[in-house]
Amino acid sequence: MTNKHNTFGFSTRAIHHGYDPQDHHGALVPPIYLSATFAFPTAEYGAACFAGEASGHFYTRISNPTLALLESRMATLENGEAAVAFSSGMGAIAATFWTLLRPGDEIIVSQTLYGCTFALLHHGIGEFGIKVRHVDLTDLAALQAALSPATRMIYCETPANPNLRLIDIAAVARLAHQQPNITVVVDNTYCTPYLQRPLELGADVVVHSTTKYLSGHGDITAGIAVSNQALAQRIRLQGLKDLTGAVMSPQDASLLMRGLKTLALRMDRHCSNAQAVAEALQAHPAVQWVTYPGLRSFPQYELANRQMKLPGGMIAFELKGGIEMGRRFMNALQLFTRAVSLGDAESLAQHPASMTHSTYTPEQRAQHGISEGLVRLSVGLEDVADLLADVQQALAKCGRSPVRQRATVTHAVR
Ligand SMILES: *Cc1c(COP(=O)(O)O)cnc(C)c1O
Repeated sequence: MTNKHNTFGFSTRAIHHGYDPQDHHGALVPPIYLSATFAFPTAEYGAACFAGEASGHFYTRISNPTLALLESRMATLENGEAAVAFSSGMGAIAATFWTLLRPGDEIIVSQTLYGCTFALLHHGIGEFGIKVRHVDLTDLAALQAALSPATRMIYCETPANPNLRLIDIAAVARLAHQQPNITVVVDNTYCTPYLQRPLELGADVVVHSTTKYLSGHGDITAGIAVSNQALAQRIRLQGLKDLTGAVMSPQDASLLMRGLKTLALRMDRHCSNAQAVAEALQAHPAVQWVTYPGLRSFPQYELANRQMKLPGGMIAFELKGGIEMGRRFMNALQLFTRAVSLGDAESLAQHPASMTHSTYTPEQRAQHGISEGLVRLSVGLEDVADLLADVQQALAKCGRSPVRQRATVTHAVR
């Protein structure tokens, strides 16, 4: 693998890392190796591959040239040593858990998590003798108190899906690593390595749903885990090869590499559009609260500035009138699409309590900071004026009369 691009900037590496057209008949775009299996020159060489003594591709569930190129690009973008590609974000998360946890171990997880990760913990590994402890990881004293000799992993999302709470990765990693044998795993789906690089802050493994911003076009489901060489090798040979089999398809890897080429451009636009939408929501009288890391009212504004390059493209908010009004708002949207998922070019709106986070019981949602009226927006790449117009017209149908109120304010100012 050519690594002559290692010293280049983020976007240059996202476009060029690990690939030289001259090695591939001059093809500008890396070829897609669809082959499931790979020929051995001799029986002895094949045996050496299986024994881990020779490097070389032999079966795509374990490795493939197209996947290897993508993995090397994701590793450099996250500033890790190696990466393992999966067929979904849940594949990456499940493989990481199953590889690193055994019965009797404890995993400490943050309070708010993506719904299916929550389900995997409580209906999956939690039923196989692994103790799952939810801890408010913004409270380092609580984390310290929760650590035990059986703790093997700390897992979090920051910002958390859907309520955007942040966790100070460096502080959590520092505390965790006072004890040997604790792996700190961060789901970096909301940020991508363009906005936040957890490995640089002390985390050991980064997982992603690359279905979201990294591919960016809503046309694949895929995931990845990034870490040092040794951990990646364990996750590949146990979590991927034997325990889940959830390997990414080479065609999806190619689409994902296409997405990576525009990642920085897209993230800049997602963030500036989201900032404008968040400010418009905050200024509107029908809105109860807005959570967006780019607003000065954001409770962890200082941490957001320190840990994230930009505030991201996701917004959580609640209308006065709670879920009833939230439904009215969502049904009034004309340009935002009512859909789950995030990070696409299209702006999306969804209701976590009845959709992505319906894996929680109402009591669990209350306990984990997911209010029933929370509406989640994934702000896309459309023209910001069109997005603002859509939000304003939908808000205008939500009870209060913003038009008259604004007129009053204008009048008073004049
Ligand atoms: C979507 C998502 C996942 C799951 O990824 P899939 O690709 O849908 O399996 C995990 N974590 C977060 C934060 C997500 O948004």
